[in-house]
Amino acid sequence: MNKKTFTLGIFGGGQLGKFLVQSAKKLNIRTFVFTDSFDSPAIYHSDDFIISNYKNKKKLDFFIKNIDLATFEFENIPFQTLDYVEKKITVSPKPSIIRILQDRLKEKNFLNSIGIKTTEFYYLKKVNKRKINNSFFPAFVKTTRFGYDGKGQIFFKDKKNFLKYSFKNNEYIIEKLVNFKKEISMVISRNKSKTVAFDAFENLHKHQILEKSKIPANISRKLNNEAREISKKIINKLNYIGTMCVEFFVTKENKLLVNEIAPRVHNSGHLTLNAYNVSQFENHIRAVCNLKLKKPKRIYKATMYNILGFDIEKYRSKNITKKEFFYDYGKKEIKDKRKMGHITKII
Ligand code: AMP
Repeated sequence: MNKKTFTLGIFGGGQLGKFLVQSAKKLNIRTFVFTDSFDSPAIYHSDDFIISNYKNKKKLDFFIKNIDLATFEFENIPFQTLDYVEKKITVSPKPSIIRILQDRLKEKNFLNSIGIKTTEFYYLKKVNKRKINNSFFPAFVKTTRFGYDGKGQIFFKDKKNFLKYSFKNNEYIIEKLVNFKKEISMVISRNKSKTVAFDAFENLHKHQILEKSKIPANISRKLNNEAREISKKIINKLNYIGTMCVEFFVTKENKLLVNEIAPRVHNSGHLTLNAYNVSQFENHIRAVCNLKLKKPKRIYKATMYNILGFDIEKYRSKNITKKEFFYDYGKKEIKDKRKMGHITKII
């Protein structure tokens, strides 16, 4: 293999990785993907790739030797891997930040410690289950780690059902159901000297999976700016380099609660590929490589729809208009609820 120009190593090979690789190419940056799955869309676009268990030291050593910097498109990379790599090469964003944001309990404690409001919650290990008030329900029990797209979550309508349930271990939080007005997210990027953010995306979830995102979000300028200020505070306090997404609930009283933070580019930001002067992916590459960030300017109003499971087959043979942008991630295996593609419609 030939390492002539700057090479960015990317852990994870999903659609987020694919878009990162394509953005890097635009900036003349070589990419090397490290993934643990054969069915990884990013490997068809990167300059090089390794398919291996994330803990294989031989493979990791080869990867490190052939890259200048590492980042990731998926935050659930084992700590041991990130720590091992960080000892030899810069990883952006820093693995110590990922330790906080990979864990719902640590994440919420961090946010509350800097004065940012989250949903009300208890750590199941530290609470007497019987002492939780009836009024706390309905509630979600969520695993502290490795949950996404509704995975690792159990919904309890009332306390009776909750007390009857036997949990495998205590690494869960219980979170009060928020009767929110809407959900929004803020995608923000930071390099060593500057922070830039897109305006909020308005998101609709179905069965805890993102169904669609639209811009502009139907919220006031004031609320948009508040979400931006909160996100700025988070990214600066963490000294985070790269792109992150802060997901919010907008309560009936128009207050913002942070639901969670994704320490990476995010599904709700897909429409930046077509509706903005710069995409979230390009700004992530720029941030981690310490290139000048592009200030986002919206060009179109747009809505992005996720295409899950076998729905992709319908879209593959559908006529697409000039105002639609269809992305087929090219995953080999179609599975129910698996993110197979998306379509963005601009206005
Ligand atoms: P999460 O993986 O925690 O982001 O949850 C996925 C989605 O489930 C959220 O975007 C919401 O639509 C819904 N959800 C999760 N937690 C809550 C909650 N405490 N109250 C209301 N809806 C929730």
